[in-house]
Amino acid sequence: MRHLLVLLLSGGCALLGMSALPASGAESPQPPQPPQPPQSSQPQLRWPHGARVAVSLSYDDALDSQLDVALPALQRHGLKASFYLQLSHPSVERRLGAWRRAARQGHELGNHSLFHQCAGSTPGHDWVTPQRDLDHTSAAQMRDQVLTANAMLYAIDGERERTYTVPCGETLASGEDYLALIAPAFLGMKVGGELAVTARAALQPAAVPVRAPVGLSGAQLIALVRSAAADGDLVNLTFHGVGGDYLSISAQAHEELLAYLASHRDQYWTTTFRNIMRHVQAQNQRPGTP
Ligand SMILES: [Zn+2]
Repeated sequence: MRHLLVLLLSGGCALLGMSALPASGAESPQPPQPPQPPQSSQPQLRWPHGARVAVSLSYDDALDSQLDVALPALQRHGLKASFYLQLSHPSVERRLGAWRRAARQGHELGNHSLFHQCAGSTPGHDWVTPQRDLDHTSAAQMRDQVLTANAMLYAIDGERERTYTVPCGETLASGEDYLALIAPAFLGMKVGGELAVTARAALQPAAVPVRAPVGLSGAQLIALVRSAAADGDLVNLTFHGVGGDYLSISAQAHEELLAYLASHRDQYWTTTFRNIMRHVQAQNQRPGTP
């Protein structure tokens, strides 16, 4: 059975509430090779230009190192990515011109909520402040704030279509799941959970699973992509810090991953999560498309 694997490399998954992969994972002993097509009768996701796997590179929380290190690297390699802004983060105002320029360059500015509420009751979440505790925020408040964040993003980049990454992967606001309240506003939403789901028919745009490795080397990141791509159609990687900030990967590891993806464009369609979900939506609107 063909599988859709989605990995979210959000360093901050202290911020996504998920454990990181160990940094001591197996190195790839051979030069990286393109993924081999899995055997499957399951309707599969098909990507432009014959690429077999779509890759979404994402960067959460609006961190300076993303503008200073990750974005220039993406530009050098001609790859497009998604930046999920926490709209209350000081860098959004302080570096507004840079975020706006990234959008003009074809990158996506995604919604990561206004205040990045996470549950204070989750073990290890002693950094959650009382006024930003998801345990004490209602679902209706989350809906209002997330939709306001969309309006702010529209003011920044003029885009109407948006995707969302759930802070900490936590969906219960005062015990009530708030995602259903905001789902109509998004092409796709990334939520923590399973690593793999079956392809296309089982892909739920409002609940795309994610995972958050931190601190991997370039070889380990490439091995991770290859492993996921061997079974799936979509690899979804999210980072926090790149060569700085927190829950980081090094600039060198990031560079090596980008170089690998850029040199295998015939196999990997590396683009924004918005572009990927637009493409999925178009396929789903064509009944009978394999
Ligand atoms: Zn976050």
